[in-house]
Amino acid sequence: MHPHLAIEHDFPLKSLNTFGLAATARRYLRVSGAAELAAVMADAQLASMPRLLLGGGSNLLLTRDFDGLVLHMSGAGKDIVGETASHVLVRGAAGENWHGFVQYTLEQGLGGLENMSLIPGTVGAAPIQNIGAYGAEIKDVFHSLTVFDMASGMVRTMDAAACRFGYRDSVFKHADGQGLAIIDVTFALPRAWQPNLRYAELAQALLEAGVERPTPQQVSDTVVAIRRRKLPDPAVIGNAGSFFKNPVVTREQCAQLLAQFPALVHHAQPDGSEKLAAGWLIDQCGWKGRNLGAAGVYPKQALVLVNNGGASGAEVLALARAIQADVHARYGVMLDPEPVFV
Ligand SMILES: Cc1cc2nc3c(=O)[nH]c(=O)nc-3n(C[C@H](O)[C@H](O)[C@H](O)COP(=O)(O)OP(=O)(O)OC[C@H]3O[C@@H](n4cnc5c(N)ncnc54)[C@H](O)[C@@H]3O)c2cc1C
Repeated sequence: MHPHLAIEHDFPLKSLNTFGLAATARRYLRVSGAAELAAVMADAQLASMPRLLLGGGSNLLLTRDFDGLVLHMSGAGKDIVGETASHVLVRGAAGENWHGFVQYTLEQGLGGLENMSLIPGTVGAAPIQNIGAYGAEIKDVFHSLTVFDMASGMVRTMDAAACRFGYRDSVFKHADGQGLAIIDVTFALPRAWQPNLRYAELAQALLEAGVERPTPQQVSDTVVAIRRRKLPDPAVIGNAGSFFKNPVVTREQCAQLLAQFPALVHHAQPDGSEKLAAGWLIDQCGWKGRNLGAAGVYPKQALVLVNNGGASGAEVLALARAIQADVHARYGVMLDPEPVFV
């Protein structure tokens, strides 16, 4: 065992995942930067173990104990690192809390991240599924990130093209992005900021508050208020946010479904495809508010699966599978889970 790595054995992960699922890691290490990752890879025993990179644990479903090494990405620090005529570059270390980072940028007088306020988790995990909310995604303001490549032991910078961002997707969710540990992320925030009020509920809330020309902070505060009203706080009731992605279907498939289900909730995409509201599909199948063992569907939002207390990962998985089967039988659409299954 490497002398200067504080490796823990049989480490409990319950408080490190927002579902609050009980599971242990055979080995666990808090990682503050590339040096520890290099030391891990230099240790033959550690290097050969299955690895899990962990951030805030808010997009994970721990289905069982993890028989490997959990690398808890905990690097801290945030700073303005550059400026151009049009943008300010702000960098956050992987372990920084995402919402705290958003608030930091707002305190610097910089807009661009406010629609994504209060998304749980870390800065380092934000690019993994190209987090988004209220009509914005991080790819809109992304500049670059630094990774430690566990295979080569090299540190390198990746731009947006290399990250291959998509809807809740990036290279890091695919085979060629495995083994890349994100060390820090840099955002290019515009000097000439315009509010992004494409999302009707956000625009409406600001209007109702009598705010005509909102500041980035006012947009952030409004997003926070809406989210607090609609989503369960993981500190109170375990969950991982939206459990399924909104399925994307062809225009033809959408038309066929509409003929049969005129109330189908769908949104046309710029490329001609249609995004269906997964929450609506689940609700129509009668799952909203229903439980399966200690796992359940949040009564206020059918897209969120919850741990009602003491649920196991296997119970949440069984509930997810039952929902997928019902939605598929009724609509012919397969729901794709958003969290990463471990
Ligand atoms: C109440 C609630 C609301 C949510 N709302 C939203 C929302 O509006 N929009 C949205 O997009 N998401 C949402 N989420 C999902 C979640 O917050 C995001 O996906 C978040 O980015 C996950 O960050 P994390 O640090 O918790 O990642 P984890 O859950 O710890 O990890 C997620 C994945 O990223 C990998 N990973 C973590 N850190 C690193 C790293 N440094 N380098 C490489 N890989 C890494 C992990 O291995 C895993 O595969 C919500 C979750 C909850 C609980």
